[in-house]
Order: sequence, then C-alpha cells, then structure tokens
Amino acid sequence: MRLFQTPGARHGWMNMRALNSIVTDSAAAASSWGCGSRVVNGALNMLPDGRKLKTLCHLFGEAGWKRGLVTTTEITHATPAGFAANQPSRDFAEQIAIQYRQLEIEVLLGGGRRFFSGERRSDAHDLISDFAGAGYQIAHNRDELLNLEANQKLLGLFAGGHLPYTVDQLQSERLTATAPTLAEMTRAALDNLERHPHFLLQVEGGRVDHACHNCDAAGAFYDQIAFDEAIDVCLEFQKKAPDTLIVITTDHGNGNPGLNAMGSRYNDSSRLFANLTRMRMSFPELLYRLERAESEEEAQEMLADATGYQASLEQVALLLTFVEKRGTALYRLMNSATAQLGQLLGNHLGIGWAGNVHTGDYVTISAVGPAAERFEGFIQNTDVFDYFLDLAGIDFQNPRLPLTDQDVVASAAVEHLEEYLAPAMASIS
Ligand SMILES: [Zn+2]
Repeated sequence: MRLFQTPGARHGWMNMRALNSIVTDSAAAASSWGCGSRVVNGALNMLPDGRKLKTLCHLFGEAGWKRGLVTTTEITHATPAGFAANQPSRDFAEQIAIQYRQLEIEVLLGGGRRFFSGERRSDAHDLISDFAGAGYQIAHNRDELLNLEANQKLLGLFAGGHLPYTVDQLQSERLTATAPTLAEMTRAALDNLERHPHFLLQVEGGRVDHACHNCDAAGAFYDQIAFDEAIDVCLEFQKKAPDTLIVITTDHGNGNPGLNAMGSRYNDSSRLFANLTRMRMSFPELLYRLERAESEEEAQEMLADATGYQASLEQVALLLTFVEKRGTALYRLMNSATAQLGQLLGNHLGIGWAGNVHTGDYVTISAVGPAAERFEGFIQNTDVFDYFLDLAGIDFQNPRLPLTDQDVVASAAVEHLEEYLAPAMASIS
C-alpha cells in the first residue's frame, strides 16, 4: 500500500493473456514481457511454428547492459527464463541453464542446483565448473553470498530445487543458514550490478504462486511479505540512483483467496485473519506429517500443533480421505489434499479459495522512476517489452501472431464483455 503513497509512483492494470488462452501460465506470461509477443502456455519465447524470439536479456546484452535474474524458485523456472531463454517447453530446465551460460547473464541467484551440477544433470556435464571457468563467483549458501566481493559475475544456487517457503524458513535454523531471503539476494544483485552504467534486473517472489496452487494462505502471505521487503531494497537503491525505473507487477492471479465475512455481524473476520500469525509450516510440510499419522487423533494433534486450529475428528477423518487419495470433491479443482486442507483452514483463517490454479484477472502494475507514466491506465503485457526497449534506446520488434483461441469464441469479444453479451441483452429487452 505504501507504493500507492510513494511520490511519483504510477499505477495501472495489465492484460496478461497468453496466445491461446485468456488464462496464462508463467512461461507465456514472462515471455510476453521478455520478447513482446504472446506465445502459447508452456512455451518460452518461441512461436508455435518454432520461430525463436529475441529476449530482453539477449537484446540488452547486445546493447552493453548487464543483466540479473533473482528468484526464490529454481533459477531455470518459467518466470526468470522468460526474460532470457528460447524453449518449446518450460520443462527443459537443463537446456535453460545452458542458455544462461551462453548469454553470460551476469547475476543469477535462486534455487535449481540440480540443473547445473554434473552429479545431477542427465548429461553429467558440470555447468557450475563452466560458470566458474568463465569468471563467475559461485555462492552455495547464505553466508557465502553475504561475504562476496562484488567484483565479478555471480552464480548463487541455494537449493537443489526451489528455495524454502518463508513460513518454513522462519522455523528452521538450518533453512535460514542455507537460503538467503529474497531481500538479501536482491541487495547482493544490486551491489553487484551497480558497478556498471546500465543494468536490467528481474526479481521474482516465486513461491507465492506455489503456495496459492496449494490453497495455503500462510505460505502465500509470508512469501508475499518477503517480496515486499525486496521492493523496499529496490526503493532504497533508487534513492541513490534516481535514474532507475522500478516496475512491480505479477504475472497472473492464482486461486483468488479472499477474506470472508465470518460470524455474527462478521465479528470473527478480523480475529480469524490474525490466526495467520499462528501458522507454523507450509502445507507440503504439514501434509508430509499427516501422511505418517497413525490415527485420526494423532493427525488432529499434528494439525493443532502446526496451525493452532482444533479440528473435529469428523473433519480430520474427511481430510484424511484426500490425504490417502480416496476422497472426491464436487468441484474438481478442489480434488486434492492441499485444496481440502485450505478449505478446512478457511474455518480458522476466514480465507476462502476460488480454486488452486491461475486465474484470468487483469493484474495491477506499478512503476516508479523515469517514464513510469507509461505503465498507467490499461496496458497489454506485450507493451512492457516495448517500453523497456524504448527506454534503453533499442529499436527492435519480434514477430507477433494473432490470438489462437478465436475458433472457440472470438477472443476480442470475450475481452469486451459488453459486446459479447449484447445479443443476450437484446433478447432480454
Ligand atoms: Zn503457478
């Protein structure tokens, strides 16, 4: 909210649709910013006919800008990769790691060591040695990152897979020592990149999305707060470098959590919402334990320990049918143990979920700094690429294809509801 009070900050709405759907995945979303073209969900900066599209990291690198990617997910994950890689599928993480090396992206911080380590890669090639040989400093844990001299390119890999959820990290000394926070990674990236006259840095709080796929309110909130702290680091940086443009947005909605009116005169909503502070672990951690419970009573106790919620044995028994994959939900998106746990804890937190997948919402976008006003009003995701290139003085455009879901329902009509509904409205009147 402080962003809305920041002098000079501008705010807008953005259409994040993919080439083939009004609901985007992270690959198509990040590609729309990364190359200025809409692609089909799952693809990274490649058109369905196989044409590769030049990415921001490529174009800015050619123009002499330094580049950084920072995330709490695997560094090869769809959102960072969308600024850099060309792949028909976001799943080709080992190839994406090679492309980062080829593009010589100056700062790479996140998880996903398994796609770089010779012991874990399917081709047994040790990419970490390649990066070291090319003059990169390598950081394996938080201490190493915080004690680095910012005088070389930087590869930091702090987990085999994704970095831990913040809600889990807060409870574990081991996890705190291993993984830096998003704010710490952001500061390290800025310290490193500010040596150069121009740089482009993407920072992703990626586990908010993962928690929303699990209907896990505490998982999402604690990671959202960690993202807010990273924004603070950027705004602090901008005070000493006012020619920096900061753009803050999300690639899509997910699960659309909402705080419900709970209790008589909605008296319980505030109290229940405060129960978020009593949550002690993410849903994957909690379910790992529940799967091993030997009785309903034991599961009931585990749940109470982890969340502060005293569920009835009847509720626990119902939840366990989903944990044991025997349950069936009426709404099929809710047909999982995580979604059912989210529903159960809705009683405790007051937070309800529309589903556990991405949603087609227009998203907010905020900008502070030079030319921030461009991001005001209603923009398309692909505009972001054009604006970035304009600001850097790069004249380039990738090919763009017409939307491919037109044979289902005219896409333009879906996006202009008034026209879409006109025939129905006419028949009513
Ligand atoms: Zn997602």
